[in-house]
Amino acid sequence: MNGIRVTVWNEARHEKTNSDVQKVYPSGMHHAISEYLKAQGLAVRTATLDEPEHGLTEAVLRQTDVLTWWGHLAHDEVDDRIVDRVHQRVLEGMGLVVLHSGHFSKIFKRLMGTSCDLKWREAGERERIWVVDPSHPIAEGLGEYIEIPHEEMYGEHFDIPAPDTLVFVSWFQGGEIFRSGCCYQRGRGKIFYFRPGHETYPTYHNPEVLRVIHNAVRWTAQPGGPELRYGHRPNMLENINR
Ligand code: ZN
Repeated sequence: MNGIRVTVWNEARHEKTNSDVQKVYPSGMHHAISEYLKAQGLAVRTATLDEPEHGLTEAVLRQTDVLTWWGHLAHDEVDDRIVDRVHQRVLEGMGLVVLHSGHFSKIFKRLMGTSCDLKWREAGERERIWVVDPSHPIAEGLGEYIEIPHEEMYGEHFDIPAPDTLVFVSWFQGGEIFRSGCCYQRGRGKIFYFRPGHETYPTYHNPEVLRVIHNAVRWTAQPGGPELRYGHRPNMLENINR
């Protein structure tokens, strides 16, 4: 599917206040992700929390096939009306790729219906992301695993509904494991949660991580099934008076 229209959304607050993050992502994490996706031939725009309507106006969402979401410090500052709007578009068929600390975003928690809580530790551990479903389109082009030299640890239990498909499981140097690549469908919208991406590490410069994001965008771009009609149905299929 060519001509996929992606909106890369970032809270973009760490980048404004933390010099360690500025060194890794001088133009913001959304810039690193969007530049890569542009280079793959996708139609990409970015949007951030501090823009009017968080950059997610009705018009922008209408023209978005896939929305990617990174947030951490300011989940509560995301306006509920915008969450409603994104939710509605997902049900209609827009793809959603939720990254790293986006597990606690309002939109992901609403779509999952659980706390989405987990265990975490910031110790620069090695993460090995094992491909547990090598035939899945999101794993296309990868080897048996992706290794990230330094990452934040996320550990089980991760309070999510059982994924429709589990594509990745992470192992961390400290011993924990985590379901790090999870597929869902809500309404016609496909959703993919992808774990890595702590703001102080150069994870979104890692070519294999970026490859996964690109694969996930392509996979979630195609709505899951035809448009359905609900509600009042006045006409019968059979004549019941005979
Ligand atoms: Zn983090």
